Amino acid sequence: MKRKDERTRHQLLSAFWISVLLILILAPLALFFIDRPPAREFWREFSVALGFVGLSLMGLQFIPTSRLPFMLNTFPVDTLYLIHHWSSILSFGFILAHPVVLVLNNPNVLRLFNLFTAPWRARAAVVSLLALIVLVVISVWRKELFIKYEPWHWFHILLSVAAAGLAYWHIFGVGYHTGILSQRVLWISYGVVWGGMVIYVRLIHPLIQLANPYEIVEVTEMLNDSWTLDIAPKGHEGFRFKPGQIAWLTINRSPFLIREHPFSLASSAERLDTYKFTIKNLGDFTSKIDEFKPGTKVYIDGPYGTFNLDRYPAPGYIFIAGGIGSVPMISMLRTMADRGDQRPVVFFYGNRNWDEVAFRDELAKLKDQLNLTLVHVLEKAPEGWEGEVGLITPEVLHRHLPEESAEWISFICGPDPMIPFVKQGLEEIGVSQGQIHSELYKMA
Ligand SMILES: Cc1cc2nc3c(=O)[nH]c(=O)nc-3n(C[C@H](O)[C@H](O)[C@H](O)COP(=O)(O)OP(=O)(O)OC[C@H]3O[C@@H](n4cnc5c(N)ncnc54)[C@H](O)[C@@H]3O)c2cc1C
Repeated sequence: MKRKDERTRHQLLSAFWISVLLILILAPLALFFIDRPPAREFWREFSVALGFVGLSLMGLQFIPTSRLPFMLNTFPVDTLYLIHHWSSILSFGFILAHPVVLVLNNPNVLRLFNLFTAPWRARAAVVSLLALIVLVVISVWRKELFIKYEPWHWFHILLSVAAAGLAYWHIFGVGYHTGILSQRVLWISYGVVWGGMVIYVRLIHPLIQLANPYEIVEVTEMLNDSWTLDIAPKGHEGFRFKPGQIAWLTINRSPFLIREHPFSLASSAERLDTYKFTIKNLGDFTSKIDEFKPGTKVYIDGPYGTFNLDRYPAPGYIFIAGGIGSVPMISMLRTMADRGDQRPVVFFYGNRNWDEVAFRDELAKLKDQLNLTLVHVLEKAPEGWEGEVGLITPEVLHRHLPEESAEWISFICGPDPMIPFVKQGLEEIGVSQGQIHSELYKMA
């Protein structure tokens, strides 16, 4: 019963925030019908309506990416970034449709695209649109264009703030609808909120981090080309977290430089003297983890995330991880061991080969302390291996899951192609969608 109530509460909270966001997106359109200047021809007004919806949707993008705790603790982190990605593209579509409809309605409008002769309000619109085009291209095809994450991140911030600012210049410069008090109040309020988000995430957040520093106390090499950092609070109490949650780490840099990376907490939520992060070498920053020495300053932004054990009470759990996706699982298992939690867990852990199995010795020990069934699934098994070989298929799940697991909660974490594949596998064996929670280690 408690579990059902808990799920209903989460669903209601998600539905509440989705409704608030939808109202914010559609408010300018509603106002457009309620309080408007004398109507001009239909297609002209239609194009303005498209532009307004596109702009309010674009501005709302500052919300999911602003690390607001109520957002990151209501929606899964990867889902928020996915929503951000697709709704940005949708907002671009609306905004692009605004000049297209205007030109189709009246080809004379084309002269407003001449940056040398057009009035400033039109120049602002054209440059805003160009900024958006560049933003969409470098975001959708970043990897194909060989743009590294960090320069891309900077451009992304600059281009989005510029596009929104110039769009404001345009709508207030034209001033037809924003000449009406209600529209003016609405757009100014939106501007204040969106600007506030940028100030919050880029100024206030770093200031809070600066006042609460941490330092590395130990760097331990692990299997699978990864390292564990033990990080302790310096001069303050640190934070409490839920097993499975994530945080953004800035190591040996100022928190204002936007050089932070997201990682799952690996430690037990019951041990708060140090926080463990296990990090696999997957690129520029993560290849240098072993160079950090004890005493290195760290800033932590977190904890965040709905992907955690405490949010979903259940009679038992199915954990499924691929490679470094085992980090949140180890945090959950360490926490369960510290709490003396004997609820059953079946952990399917997929790796390429035995040498890449992170935490394998500790997992073997945890089996003695917990009610844990450990199922290693290796793509390439060593000689004499008697366990599972290949991928985590529905057959593998079926072989090891007891009947009562239909009532359990599943947590999946791993690389891109694994998650949908395994989700489908769970659904095939009768686990309902609402019981499956996943975290993809990919934001952009
Ligand atoms: C929610 C979440 C939790 C994660 N937890 C862990 C963990 O516990 N252990 C672990 O080893 N890895 C984890 N990762 C992955 C880790 O964040 C990336 O491997 C790391 O940021 C790559 O940085 P890089 O400079 O070494 O790689 P690069 O070669 O620069 O980038 C490789 C790819 O990683 C992504 N990336 C790079 N920098 C960032 C950034 N600052 N923010 C977001 N994505 C970035 C981009 O898609 C990029 O294309 C997690 C990722 C996410 C999204």
